[in-house]
Amino acid sequence: MSLKEYERKRRFDATPEPRPGIAHPKPGAALSYVIQKHQATALHYDFRLQWNGVLLSWAVPKGPSLDPAVKRLAMPVEDHPMEYGGFEGVIPAGQYGAGTVMVWDKGTWTPDEPDVDSALRKGDLKFTLHGEKLKGSWVLVRTRGFQKSRSRPSWLLIKHRDAYASTEDVTADEPRSVSSHRLLEDIARDGGGNVEKARKGDPVTQTLRPRPKAARIAKRARPKA
Ligand code: MN
Repeated sequence: MSLKEYERKRRFDATPEPRPGIAHPKPGAALSYVIQKHQATALHYDFRLQWNGVLLSWAVPKGPSLDPAVKRLAMPVEDHPMEYGGFEGVIPAGQYGAGTVMVWDKGTWTPDEPDVDSALRKGDLKFTLHGEKLKGSWVLVRTRGFQKSRSRPSWLLIKHRDAYASTEDVTADEPRSVSSHRLLEDIARDGGGNVEKARKGDPVTQTLRPRPKAARIAKRARPKA
């Protein structure tokens, strides 16, 4: 576990993202879990689990699914400092990861097996989430022979069958920040970011905004040319 790659990729005089501090987890304290929704070049959900003083991180392009039949691609990315878990805001244009970041879910996690390091080496980590949106048993499993060209093998994030499994589309139905209740659009506006681009990651504004009635009627009433 190292934060060298995290530091190398960022200019802390140009981004509001936190500089790594020294993590002092309380002995016996619960392990943090956070998902940050990140509208960067492409929308993705950064899935992070506290382990050995850092946040182990995977980028999940489609976000988590509560349906055990659905496997979501999870690309491993560099470890992040513990402080990052509270970050919500705008990464300025031109900086690494430029775009809007939302704390989409947070809470704690518990490993389902005692030896987490061994589970990570094996590429099969079973765990329980105690988040505000995501709960119950999940697995992160490393794949073989998939996207071989990449330097890091892909993993899959899958919900286990339990009382919290569901076919509900949690990313569409619960698009707001658990920290501030804002949408990406609001976070971008408040942080001086790209509001138009951020809005593309907000399902509510895409799917629930009704077309103005007048425009609909006018179009129908227009005589055929
Ligand atoms: Mn990201």
